[in-house]
Amino acid sequence: MSAGANSAAARRGRFITLEGVDGAGKSTHLEWLVARLREAGLDVVQTREPGGTPLAEKLRELLLNEPMRLDTETLLMFAGRCEHVRTVIEPALARGQWVVCDRFTDATYAYQGGGRGLAAGRIAVLEQWVHGDLQPDVTWLFDVPLDVSRERLGRGRTLDRFEREDDAFFERTRAAYHARAEADPARFRIIDSTRPIEAVRAELAAQLRACIDQAAGA
Ligand code: ADP
Ligand code: MG
Repeated sequence: MSAGANSAAARRGRFITLEGVDGAGKSTHLEWLVARLREAGLDVVQTREPGGTPLAEKLRELLLNEPMRLDTETLLMFAGRCEHVRTVIEPALARGQWVVCDRFTDATYAYQGGGRGLAAGRIAVLEQWVHGDLQPDVTWLFDVPLDVSRERLGRGRTLDRFEREDDAFFERTRAAYHARAEADPARFRIIDSTRPIEAVRAELAAQLRACIDQAAGA
């Protein structure tokens, strides 16, 4: 690799995604992860999908609340993702910022693919179109079984269209996440999120340190 390529790679920030079924703990750990990165002196953009731009947040409202065809749902997911990638994620990474995103394309494979049964090849076409050259550097997959998810979601929040799906949908979604992780072990870190929050954080802290050191070339 040339020196120029090396310095370009060093300038690029890291793209971290948080994945997992509803109630797995993504949002709980997102702010904490971002705070740890900022403490380490890194410039961090915190974002989420569906959403992350004004237009994509409008699409999120539709996606989470409005009944629609599966193809429509998948296309809208990628329409929002296109805005998000082009206007937020890619520019931030190019500036050397780190991007931490609550869900990304793995969620489409898990929910529209696994949960709803859309052929993975359809998703792959859209993925290639919208972010063919961009993949997360690290993906934390927060993993919990059905009973834990249900118990946590039951704590008073209003459930959206996906969270209201039945047990079989949950199991297909979780299995699709596991299959994604098995297919790309270099990118995925599976987190047993049934443990207490502090135990999860101790594991995350160690993995985050390794990630920061690796990015710094240590
Ligand atoms: P997600 O964003 O993955 O859907 P949340 O982070 O919103 O999940 O967590 C769902 C609920 O479970 C919240 O009430 C949160 O406080 C709780 N929770 C998350 N992780 C744990 C944990 N390790 N132990 C106990 N409760 C947790
Ligand atoms: Mg959440």
